[in-house]
Amino acid sequence: MLSIKNLHVSVGDKPILKGVNLEINAGEVHAIMGPNGSGKSTLSHVLSGKSGYNVTEGTVTYKGEDLLEMDPEIRAREGIFLAFQYPVEIPGVSNIYLLKAALNAMRTHQGLPEVDAFDFLTLVKGKVKLLQMDEKFLYRSVNEGFSGGEKKRNEILQAAILEPSMCILDETDSGLDIDALKVVAAGVNSLRAADRSFLMITHYQRLLGYIKPDIVHVLADGRIVKSGGPELALELEAKGYSWVEEQVA
Ligand code: ADP
Ligand code: MG
Ligand code: MG
Repeated sequence: MLSIKNLHVSVGDKPILKGVNLEINAGEVHAIMGPNGSGKSTLSHVLSGKSGYNVTEGTVTYKGEDLLEMDPEIRAREGIFLAFQYPVEIPGVSNIYLLKAALNAMRTHQGLPEVDAFDFLTLVKGKVKLLQMDEKFLYRSVNEGFSGGEKKRNEILQAAILEPSMCILDETDSGLDIDALKVVAAGVNSLRAADRSFLMITHYQRLLGYIKPDIVHVLADGRIVKSGGPELALELEAKGYSWVEEQVA
């Protein structure tokens, strides 16, 4: 699904990622953990195609194609979904309008007809229920005035509608109380499928108690310094990140 080889990324003159290697197969859930400032969000931004992140070395392949050559909107239409650490607010654009426009852009790109208005409403209402959201969120401006938890839930709603192949979730657990965390995790778990992969970026182990990853990686100072099974997350929680950094040193 996604193959990252020797990825080096700079912001301005400052090298942030210093040779990241990562292979994610279809159906796998990978978690990236790491201390603050290690480059986790930088990795998610560069995968989304955000400007200002300069790839100085290395390759990223998505479904066999050069991801770095694709424009951001093509990446999205090809099925890469990104939930950012800080979701954007879009005043004046209703949530339901954005969801429908995004879904239809994807469908058109894939050579499918636009979704029928009635079918769309049925689809979206079902997903809203799944995520235990109030239907009134559909008619509010995207993320405007949403609490942190509501924004996160709204992003999972977007993913549930768009059914992407590769979901990248950056700090989806931050700002969630325990009930919201369980709802978001259940939403993510309901999306797990043999043809869909996840990259979950998180500072804490908490989320991984609810969404069990297949593989856990530790990013420190711009490199993946350790990989292991779900037990690695527990070990990090118990011992902190300095333990891994000392091992690497
Ligand atoms: P993490 O998500 O792991 O906490 P980030 O990827 O956000 O880390 O940041 C990694 C490093 O890159 C930090 O030192 C941060 O200050 C720096 N950085 C990230 N984005 C920018 C930017 N746009 N301008 C300057 N420095 C940046
Ligand atoms: Mg951070
Ligand atoms: Mg971050």
